Amino acid sequence: MIKSFLSTFKLAIVLLMINSFVSSAQADETEKVLTVTTMDSAIDLTPFINIYEDATKKLTYKDFSNPKAGQQFKPLNKAANFGFSESAWWVKLRIVNHHEKIQRVTIRQNYPLIDYVDFHSQQHNNTWISYSTGDRREFSTRPINFMEFLFPIELLPNTETTIFMRFESSGPINIGLDLQSETSLFDTVSSNHLITGIYYGGFIILVFYNLLLFIAIKDRTFIYYLLYLASYGLFFAVMNGLAFQYFWPASPWLANQSLIILLSLSLIWSLQFSRSILSIKDISPVSNHITSGLIIVSTIPLFISPFVSYRLIIIPMSIITILCTVQLMAMGFIAFSRGSKPARYYLVAWSTLLIGIFAYMLKSFGILPHNTWTQNGQQIGSLIEMVLLSLAMSSKVNEYKKGSYIDSLTNLPNRRSFDERFSKEFDNVKGHKQGLLSLLIIDVDNFKHYNDKYGHSQGDEALKFVGKKLQSTARKNTIPSRYGGEEFAVILPNTSSEQAHTIGERIRSKIESDNAQQHNLTVSVGVATLEENNFASHHQLFEAADQALYYAKENGRNRTECFNTTIKDRRTTSC
Ligand code: GH3
Ligand code: MG
Ligand code: MG
Repeated sequence: MIKSFLSTFKLAIVLLMINSFVSSAQADETEKVLTVTTMDSAIDLTPFINIYEDATKKLTYKDFSNPKAGQQFKPLNKAANFGFSESAWWVKLRIVNHHEKIQRVTIRQNYPLIDYVDFHSQQHNNTWISYSTGDRREFSTRPINFMEFLFPIELLPNTETTIFMRFESSGPINIGLDLQSETSLFDTVSSNHLITGIYYGGFIILVFYNLLLFIAIKDRTFIYYLLYLASYGLFFAVMNGLAFQYFWPASPWLANQSLIILLSLSLIWSLQFSRSILSIKDISPVSNHITSGLIIVSTIPLFISPFVSYRLIIIPMSIITILCTVQLMAMGFIAFSRGSKPARYYLVAWSTLLIGIFAYMLKSFGILPHNTWTQNGQQIGSLIEMVLLSLAMSSKVNEYKKGSYIDSLTNLPNRRSFDERFSKEFDNVKGHKQGLLSLLIIDVDNFKHYNDKYGHSQGDEALKFVGKKLQSTARKNTIPSRYGGEEFAVILPNTSSEQAHTIGERIRSKIESDNAQQHNLTVSVGVATLEENNFASHHQLFEAADQALYYAKENGRNRTECFNTTIKDRRTTSC
């Protein structure tokens, strides 16, 4: 009994609390008024927004300007983001100037992609000043030429000024208003231009850098990257209002269509670029097919967007964007798990962009504060992303470079690498009286026969085996390479002919003794040494080693011979 009484009592208290909470919430329903004195910095207007949703879209500011009707406005107390909405949204601002002087201020709406923005501000003689603009109207309808919406007003001394703003859009309704003094507007505009300048400056450098790389390397990946850069850079210019201001100010149609077109192109080229840089075709055919599918799906909006309303296309477009983003990351992880070096930069690059987009979204939902970093998060993330993708590209170039210097069968440096290194080493030593440089040329014995007998793939295995032996027998300073076919070369800087002979013999005997699975595989080794400037060019030194190899073959194979210039009869070779 007592228990039930107590619980009823508790319930009553809870109800009372809820009630007082509700009534306090109701008490809060009076319109917000902003009082300003001297303004030296910008004021965020979000806490002072009074909002009215006009589902009929028929009301005008005159319907609100009599005080009774004005009561319909409710304070908002949170970020004014209403997503996609069929209604028109009215904002009422009441600003009291508690100052002896007139203050010339500017109301800024920082999200420029609103179809229709109407602005009405009350003047001292109860007349109204109105501007009708928005991105479905020509750019010239703006009172101040700027990528965002700026509305100048005068606040009379010790007077309340009422402002009505109407927002209607087929895209999301994001209302981000602040009040700028003459000086803070200057700061806002300059920092805006600074960020834009840095972004597009970096962007243009990247475009040229990659264009030059493409001309030099002629790999299509660079063209895909350039197309992605161009699409995404322009997409941003549309997002932040720059493209409308500078590229097509007289075409509201393009201002709206370009967003879908450029988003599609960004998706297409980012997918194409990604699968190319990560060589997805080679490492995951399934993922490659998914990418092809997504590329096809991403081209659909390009063709249908001129005929379908923005509202209809933006939702499927968002879904496609999410799917493409997941696929872009998935490709990165697949390539990373296969040890691709560009994939490391690639993954960090996309993550940076995603963090930027995420920060911007959290700001839009009012979870993160509205500041330069969150407002421009996407842009900052995108610039870092583009730089990192460029790094991924140079890492790819490195792989190419490596590929053109490494023999894919044995993983040894190839002929090209040998030629460059050999002439360099020769030039280092030439002219020095004490300089020593030896060269071994190693050729597999009767390899034609070996191939015929055991098959070509066994032959390949034998070549790999020789390559491994060369690497494991090599000292710190020796430079082995696959010269071509079944011929190998080892450059031995600072090595006398005796030492070189010893090394050659060690290699030869190792191959002979360790070749249990290689069916009696043997090699012959020719040695030549540059000492006391006995050779005028590296070609001569090479020919000498080749000659010595020829002696070794002639003398029965599976042996090491030295070229000896001091003995007249060059056939007598001993080290
Ligand atoms: P010798 O002892 O006089 O050097 O005789 P050889 O049979 O080794 O000489 P030859 O130069 O006539 O034959 C070289 C053979 O090496 C011919 C070619 O089929 C084989 N060969 C060259 N490159 C490769 C390769 O990458 N893989 C395989 N399996 N065989 C190769
Ligand atoms: Mg041979
Ligand atoms: Mg040969």
